[in-house]
Amino acid sequence: MKKKELILFDFDGVIIDGMNEYWHSSLLACKYYLNSKDICSNINTNLKISNVFISLRPWIKYGWEMVIITHEIIKKNNPLTDKNKNSFVANYENNCAKIIKKNSWDSKNLQKSLDRARELQISDNFDQWISLHKPFIEVVKFIKDAEKNGFQIGIITTKGKLFTQKILENIDINPDYLYGYESGSKTEIIANLINDYKIIGFLEDRLKTLLNVVNNSQTSTLPCYLADWGYLKENDRNNLPKTIKLLKLNDLNNRLANFA
Ligand SMILES: [Mg+2]
Repeated sequence: MKKKELILFDFDGVIIDGMNEYWHSSLLACKYYLNSKDICSNINTNLKISNVFISLRPWIKYGWEMVIITHEIIKKNNPLTDKNKNSFVANYENNCAKIIKKNSWDSKNLQKSLDRARELQISDNFDQWISLHKPFIEVVKFIKDAEKNGFQIGIITTKGKLFTQKILENIDINPDYLYGYESGSKTEIIANLINDYKIIGFLEDRLKTLLNVVNNSQTSTLPCYLADWGYLKENDRNNLPKTIKLLKLNDLNNRLANFA
């Protein structure tokens, strides 16, 4: 039997620009759940989004890293600033690990603090929380057109599944598959899907994630696309391997014609 055709999407930076929400929810997590002596307890949760936070977003893989970065930006002494951010990202993973160790945190609890900050907003003021997310309308249209053309849609994100679902409902997208951080690594999820579907594309804005996919023997033949409109590092677009194509927002519709 012919396998059904499936298109896979990352969520943050591909379907949605949630930058304002990442910052706001991380501030709330710091204020209510972090219990850090390095930050004031009366954090202004309406604080304007930090440019340092925006410029570090391309390095972030999991939500809990946003909480750490926000903590470093707003803390009292030696905060993370425009001046020292380059040395921070030069050793990004080690620096995150050091902060966790110094504060005796763990990534699971940090993630929980972010999830709780989101739950709080959903129960207190859902409309305001939703309004912090800006969908990429071209991508939303692309997904709807793809569905009409008989393609199955899968979304694989490192966000919590429940939160992703609420945002997707709001933009009227109902994917055939939705995997959150609870489901394991993206490469593992894709390796499982490959058995049952003909996957015709994976759109993702984190180059490292795409490299993991193309370097894994089970998923190496997957057509991978780096979303040019997402949270990319300055050099991500240069020297891409042949197996990863840079996809521009304006080229999305042509791409669907090529798929079909
Ligand atoms: Mg992303």
